[in-house]
Amino acid sequence: MKNRLLTKMSGIISSGIFPLLIVMTRRSQQYFKGVSVPLTDTPAPFYEQKTMCRGTIYRLTTGGPRKGPRKARRMAKTLEQVQTELGDCKRCELCETRTTIVFGVGNPRAEVLLIGEAPGRQEDLGAEPFIGAAGKYLNELLAIAGLERKDVYIANILKCRPPGNADPLPHQIEACTPFLREQVRAIEPLILVTLGRFSSQFILKTDTGISHLRGKVHLTGRYSVLPIFHPAAAIYDQSKRPLLEHDFALLKLLIEKRHEELGSRA
Ligand code: SF4
Repeated sequence: MKNRLLTKMSGIISSGIFPLLIVMTRRSQQYFKGVSVPLTDTPAPFYEQKTMCRGTIYRLTTGGPRKGPRKARRMAKTLEQVQTELGDCKRCELCETRTTIVFGVGNPRAEVLLIGEAPGRQEDLGAEPFIGAAGKYLNELLAIAGLERKDVYIANILKCRPPGNADPLPHQIEACTPFLREQVRAIEPLILVTLGRFSSQFILKTDTGISHLRGKVHLTGRYSVLPIFHPAAAIYDQSKRPLLEHDFALLKLLIEKRHEELGSRA
């Protein structure tokens, strides 16, 4: 038995399959390195390799077979189907105090999906995310990235307003985020912009604070993720404005880089 195993192994090695596997692994590593190249005019590292999911990075860099994403596209629901499923949601206690569910708004095929925290008072009344003072400022920030509101899709971690704009609680996030996941799958964006601590930590599955996460592009799953301070933070703390503006300029560069990658694969 032992002899037969040894004979088989020496057969594999002499057939050249084993060296080929090593070469393929090294080639893959070269592709991974390619993803990490910093942009010349960006001081912070451009990509942070959050996950080392080979299939994902292979897809980003080489334009190889997209088995995962194709399968995901077939199975993804439309935004309308997700909204219908959400219905008059009573999955957590926030249903008792909300005026309306704030599902999300924007281009259903957006390349950039912005994910905020939860509706505020204005949003709860207007049924749309980011329509108050923070929304106005967000429009200015989007212009820095060369975008208008109609170009992007905007959603929140929670779809109902926590009373007094309290922080989202873990069980509320757990109840509500399956619908956010379905929204991401329906839209299939290139870039997720996470606005503030809660959405950044949820998407990147980390406890690291937003101050450390922002200013860098992270890879998670098949998405580039750009964590940015919540625009509302800059309404109260003006010192955050230059950082927000820097990060939206970084978003512009990231969009261009993703277009280049897609162009070179076409
Ligand atoms: S916050 Fe989400 S889970 Fe809770 S009631 Fe609203 S829609 Fe449902």
